[in-house]
Amino acid sequence: MDIALDPSRDDLPLMANTSHILVKHYVLDLDVDFESQIIEGTIVLFFEPGDRFEKQSGSTKDTCRSESNEACSFRMPAPCQSPVTDTRTFSSKTGYNDFAICGKGEKDTSGKDGNHDNPEQASGISSSKYRCDTGNHGSEDFLLVLDCCDLSVLKVEEVDVAAVPGIDKFTRSPKLTVVSEELRNQIVHELVTLPAGRWREQLDYYAGCSQAPGCGELLFDTDTWSLQIRKTGAQTATDFPHAIRIWYSTKPQGRSVTWTSDQSGRPCVYTMGSPINNRALFPCQEPPVAMSTWQATVRAAASFVVLMSGENSAKPTQLREGCASWHYYVTMPMPASTFTIAVGSWTEMKPEPCLFKDLAAERALSPSEADFRYVGVCGHTEYPCRFQNPSATTQEIVPHRVFAPVCLQGACQETLLQLVPPCLSAAHSILGTHPFSRLDILIVPANFPSLGMARPNKEKTGHVSDSGSSVIKHGLNPEKVFMQVHYLKGYFLLRFLAQRLGDDTYFAFLRKFVHTFHGQLILSQDFLQMLLENIPEEKRLELSVENIFRDWLESSGIPQPLQRERQAGAECGLARQVSAEVEKWIRVNRRPRKRKRREAEEVFEKLLPDQLVLLLEHLLEQKTLNPRTLQSLERTYHLPQQDAEVRHRWCELIVKHRYTRAYKDVERFLQEDQAMGVYLYGELMLSEDPRQQQVARRCFELTKEQMERSSAEVVAEMLF
Ligand SMILES: [Zn+2]
Repeated sequence: MDIALDPSRDDLPLMANTSHILVKHYVLDLDVDFESQIIEGTIVLFFEPGDRFEKQSGSTKDTCRSESNEACSFRMPAPCQSPVTDTRTFSSKTGYNDFAICGKGEKDTSGKDGNHDNPEQASGISSSKYRCDTGNHGSEDFLLVLDCCDLSVLKVEEVDVAAVPGIDKFTRSPKLTVVSEELRNQIVHELVTLPAGRWREQLDYYAGCSQAPGCGELLFDTDTWSLQIRKTGAQTATDFPHAIRIWYSTKPQGRSVTWTSDQSGRPCVYTMGSPINNRALFPCQEPPVAMSTWQATVRAAASFVVLMSGENSAKPTQLREGCASWHYYVTMPMPASTFTIAVGSWTEMKPEPCLFKDLAAERALSPSEADFRYVGVCGHTEYPCRFQNPSATTQEIVPHRVFAPVCLQGACQETLLQLVPPCLSAAHSILGTHPFSRLDILIVPANFPSLGMARPNKEKTGHVSDSGSSVIKHGLNPEKVFMQVHYLKGYFLLRFLAQRLGDDTYFAFLRKFVHTFHGQLILSQDFLQMLLENIPEEKRLELSVENIFRDWLESSGIPQPLQRERQAGAECGLARQVSAEVEKWIRVNRRPRKRKRREAEEVFEKLLPDQLVLLLEHLLEQKTLNPRTLQSLERTYHLPQQDAEVRHRWCELIVKHRYTRAYKDVERFLQEDQAMGVYLYGELMLSEDPRQQQVARRCFELTKEQMERSSAEVVAEMLF
C-alpha cells in the first residue's frame, strides 16, 4: 500500500508500524536554543517486538494460514515459537541461549564486532526502494518506521547496551564474552520487562544505556511523515536492534513546537496538542496504542524555566556558566502525544504565607519501591500505579506549582493560586485517586491553540493497516479545530446523563469508571457501555448505546433531549432573572434619546458570568441597540474586565452594532485571546464594513507571526 501523501491534504497519516515493534521507553537529551529556535540532541529508543509479532509466535502455523499473505511474508523463524509466546513470562524463565536459537544462521554477523560503520550506508537508503508499509517486502530487511516530520535527522546508530557497567546481571548468561545483537536485545528485553517495583533501578539503567557507546550506524531515510530505519541483514523485528540512538534537531517552523513570547514579551517555546502532536519534536510512535514511558534531560539558558509533563518536580542543575539542566521522567506508560514541554522566563507563584501552612502539609508521594505489588485492582500493564498505594489514594490535593509571566503575577496571586487546592480536592472527591503524583500549572501565551487539543484518540480514528499505520480523518484540516460541536455535544450529553440518573448514581459511576479504566485507552463506547451496565434497570429508561449515538452523535442540530431541557431550563431561577434583565435593557433601548433625568432609571441586578453570557446572547438577537445602550451595558457590567467568554459576546455586540467607541475591546480580544478570536475575524469580515475589516487586517498583521499555524491559515483565508 503506497500512500501518496500531500501535506496540504486533510488527513493526518500515522506511519509507525506499531504492529511489528513497540517503543517501550524514550530517553531524550536536548538543548533548547532560543537564538536559532532549534531544539537539538539525541533520543534513545528501547523496543519490544509488537503484539502482532507475539500473536504470530504463539501459533505460527495457524496464524499464517488464516491471515493474509502480507502477514506471512513477515518472516518468523520457527524456533522462536515457544520462548517468545509471552514476553513477560519469558523474561524471568529463559535466558540468552534460548533467544540465540531464533536467529541462528540468519543474522548479519557484522553486529558481532560491534562496528559496521560505512559512510556509504550511513548516507541513507533510497526511499523509492522501501515502502512505508513495512509488512510486505519479502526477503528485505525489517524496516522500522517512526512518525517524524520537520526534523533534521543527522545520524542513527545501534546502542551497545552490553557496555553499561553492571548490566550483565540482566543476562544470566555464562557466555558474556561474546557480545552480540542477541545479547544486547536480550538485555533490553530484560530491562523493559522489569517488575514495576524496580522502576527506579529501571530508570537508572535506561539512563545508563542511553549514555552507552554506539556499535554501528544504521541506515535511515526520511520522507514527509516518517523516519525509516533498517539494519542490513536484520529481517525481523526480533533481529532489529532493540536500543537505538538518533541524533536530530527540530526546525524553527516545525509544527509541534511554537516559538513565541509570553504576555510580558519574553521569549518562550511550548509544544502544542495539535495538529501533528509531537512528531516534529522527536521521532516517535504516534498511534496511542504505543504506550511508553520516558525520561528527558533538557538544557537551556539559566534564566529559563523548563517544564514537562513528568512525575517529578524537577529543579534546575547549574551547568557551565549561564546554563542549567532539568530532568523529568514518567513511570506510567502513555501515548507519545502526551509528552509536553514548555520553556520560558516564567516565575513560580508562591502562595501567601497564610496559605503556605496548609500547602506545606501536602507531602509529595512519589512512588516508593515497597508500595507497589501487582495486586490485581488494575487492568493496565504493570507500572508503579497510585491506585495501589493506600496513602496516594487518599491524597486529596497533590503537590503543584504554578508558573506565570511576570506581568500576570498579581492576578495569579489574587485569584488563581487560591483556586487550585479546592479544584484538586473537588476532582479527588468526584473522580477519586489522582492518577499523577504532582501537577505543574502554566499560564500559556496568548497564541496557545486551546480549542483543538487531544488528537489522535484511540486507533479507531481511521483505517488501521496491518503494520499498525493509520490515517486520522481530517486531522490536518485547519478549520476542523474550530468546530466545537463535538465538545459541546459531549458536554451536554454528560449533563443529560447526570440529570437522568441523579447525581449520586452518576458520580458513583464516574469514580468506578476511572478506577476500572485508569492507565488504559478507552473509547466513548466503552464509557457508555459500562454506564448502562451499571445502572439499575428502572433508571435506564430506554437508554441504550445505540439510541444515545443516534440522538446525540449521528443527528445534526440540537439533540432532542437537549431541546426539551432547554425549555425546562428557561424556567430556572437564574435564567428567569436574566430574562427579566433582558426586558429592562430592551426598554432602555427603546426610550427616546431626550428624556428627563428624574424619570425612574432602571435598576439592574448583579449577574454571574454565566448569566452575563446568556444576557448578551439574548441581546445579540435584538436588531438594533443604540450606542447609548451599549455604553450603559459596558459600564453596568464592567464588560472589558470580564472573562473571555463574556468579552467574546461583548465583542460580537460591538461588531454587530458597529459600536466604534469600543473597537479597542475587539482589538484587544483579537490579540490576547487568539484561539477564540478566530470567530470574531469572521464576523468582522462578513460585516463588509470597511472600518471593521480594517480592524481585522490590522490585528492580523500584528499577531500573524505568533499566531498558531492553523488559526493563521483560517484567518488568512477569511481576510484575503
Ligand atoms: Zn493502576
